[in-house]
Amino acid sequence: MTDPIKLTNLTRHFERGGMDVQALRGVDLSIEPGEFVALVGPSGSGKSTLLNLLGGLDRATAGELWLNGTALHSATEADRTLHRRQRIGFIFQSFNLLPRLTALENVAIPLMLSGVGVAEREARAKNLLEKVGLGHRLSHYPTELSGGEQQRTAVARALIHNPSLILADEPTGNLDTKTGEEVMALLQELNREQGITLIVVTHDEDVAAYADRIVKLRDGDIVEEVKADNPPSPQPSPLREREPMSPPPVRGRAREGVKSGGLQMSDIIRQALSNLRRRPVRNVLTAGGVLIGIVTLVAMVSFGVGVQREVQRNFESIGLENLFVRPIYDEPDAFDPFAEPEPQTPITPEMVAQIEQIPDVVSVTPELRLPFSIDIALTYGDTSLPIRVTDGNEPEFSFGTEPEPLAGSFLDTRVSEGTVLVNGLADSLLAEGESYDNLIGEEILLTVQLPRGETESFPSQIVGVRDGFGGSIIELGLAEREAILAWWFNEPDILQTDGYDGLIVQTTDLGAITAVSSQIEELDLETQSLEAILNVANQVLGLMQALLGSVGGLALLVAALGVANTMMMAIYERTREIGVLKALGASAREIRALFTVEAAMLGLLGGFFGLIFGTLLGRLVDWIGHRFLIAEGITGIGQLSVVPWWLAVGAMAFATFIGIVAGLYPAARAARLDPVAALRHE
Ligand code: ADP
Ligand code: MG
Repeated sequence: MTDPIKLTNLTRHFERGGMDVQALRGVDLSIEPGEFVALVGPSGSGKSTLLNLLGGLDRATAGELWLNGTALHSATEADRTLHRRQRIGFIFQSFNLLPRLTALENVAIPLMLSGVGVAEREARAKNLLEKVGLGHRLSHYPTELSGGEQQRTAVARALIHNPSLILADEPTGNLDTKTGEEVMALLQELNREQGITLIVVTHDEDVAAYADRIVKLRDGDIVEEVKADNPPSPQPSPLREREPMSPPPVRGRAREGVKSGGLQMSDIIRQALSNLRRRPVRNVLTAGGVLIGIVTLVAMVSFGVGVQREVQRNFESIGLENLFVRPIYDEPDAFDPFAEPEPQTPITPEMVAQIEQIPDVVSVTPELRLPFSIDIALTYGDTSLPIRVTDGNEPEFSFGTEPEPLAGSFLDTRVSEGTVLVNGLADSLLAEGESYDNLIGEEILLTVQLPRGETESFPSQIVGVRDGFGGSIIELGLAEREAILAWWFNEPDILQTDGYDGLIVQTTDLGAITAVSSQIEELDLETQSLEAILNVANQVLGLMQALLGSVGGLALLVAALGVANTMMMAIYERTREIGVLKALGASAREIRALFTVEAAMLGLLGGFFGLIFGTLLGRLVDWIGHRFLIAEGITGIGQLSVVPWWLAVGAMAFATFIGIVAGLYPAARAARLDPVAALRHE
């Protein structure tokens, strides 16, 4: 600094309880570069106010303040931040070291705020701490240091960025006489050997005696200036024996080694992490709120996705290009409760042939169901067993892959004849040493009994053995079923009078469905496609997902309030630290970034573990669900809880977003804090 510091009519008024407090009433003062000035005066005389103005922490009400060619009285907030960051070193009465940082890290803060990398700034901090005699205390935390050691650390911190002006507000106020002398000797040495301008507030006569000039303030005005003609020789101090501080003493030397790059993102993250660690329980509980919300969301959405995928897969394996055709039934006769509903137009074999002629129709599979209460026994050789018939032609809603026959073949679709046995039934028909293949082609008799006791036997042939449940199920060909039904209802021409129960019409592709179904409907039949059913199913699932998702959303809203609350508490606890950071050159934007990142991390932390627990919960419910389904005899169902990548990324991003949103207001509060008021905060 080559220009003097010049104060002209510098005035600072405060509003307090509607009263105007005149802290400075038009101060005129010039300070030469390299001068050591002591500001003395009774408490409340305006010493700290003047120091804060010089440091750019506060704004004057009126008057001018020129510092190294900069008009601080009219400087913008950004300029004053830069001024603090580059030119000023602050030393406080109560040291104001950050409790979570080691001595080394504390000393390095001004360089961190200037964007200097960790390695370089810590090397410089170490060097400086060694110079102030604390080489053995580098990794100690402030609470582990004595008062004198803390203040020497603070002196090193005030020096690290090579400031041109050091402002010390009662630096010895919290120290015993001997330690105070040591610190003053250190400051004097800096002033003499490096030409750093030094302004020290004190009300200790002995401390003031170190200065080149003593400026006395009273009631906001300078009342006396005393110039020490013969600078007093300082007390012998261990520091005197040490080599001078590097770089070599040059009065008014140019600024060097100071970047104004600002606080780097990596340092913001590092600080946020270290701040999160200081209140582990509180922060874990807060993140726990986010976690619960994310767990709900992830588990719910993963089920939505999984179930939807499974449904889609199974419907697709059945074939979306299928049309289901049913006859339209008359209104049942209200006066005859036992009347069977009569189809308006029965589906006769002729109609089946007609439908097969429609372009784009690949195949037509008729359905014919036996009465539910029918009693059938199967006789093979000497064995006779009661059996149940399933409709072998209906496409299986068996989930999963298309099964293979264990022996022989399955029933044909269009005109089928024969019997397929489930393996359990086949086992009870086999003699010792025979295999399923021995049964293929064997003649059996199916004996049907009417409710009133009459029986009739129908011959059939075993065509295949399949995997299935129980020991009494057969699939029966269309021909046998037609014969049984004709006898049962005593209607030899049952296909002409009643027709088939329904048809499955397979078309060439999905695109042909609409055209084919309208042609079939012209025949007075009803059609339904799987696609329509699937659409409805998807809508229901989507609705369920939305509903369940909103439960998770609600949980997250509550979690956001938790994050906001935690951040507000953190600000309250750290008000003084925020003041210190601002005094050391942190901008409002950087303070906001620090708190926003901290809140975002709370969210991310909750999101990360929420994702893990949510996935695990989904898997657990999935597993239990499968046990249940298997007990109910349903197999072949795939995983129902699926966490696709977009859900994982989305859940974490959303949790982080929640944290950021919740932290917006607290971070803005922290950024707005007035540094002077923050530094007064206890
Ligand atoms: P000193 O440091 O000399 O003890 P200060 O500079 O702290 O004195 O304060 C000077 C006067 O201004 C005192 O009367 C003090 O109460 C008042 N003052 C300082 N800061 C504020 C403030 N932020 N609001 C209201 N009054 C203030
Ligand atoms: Mg004061």
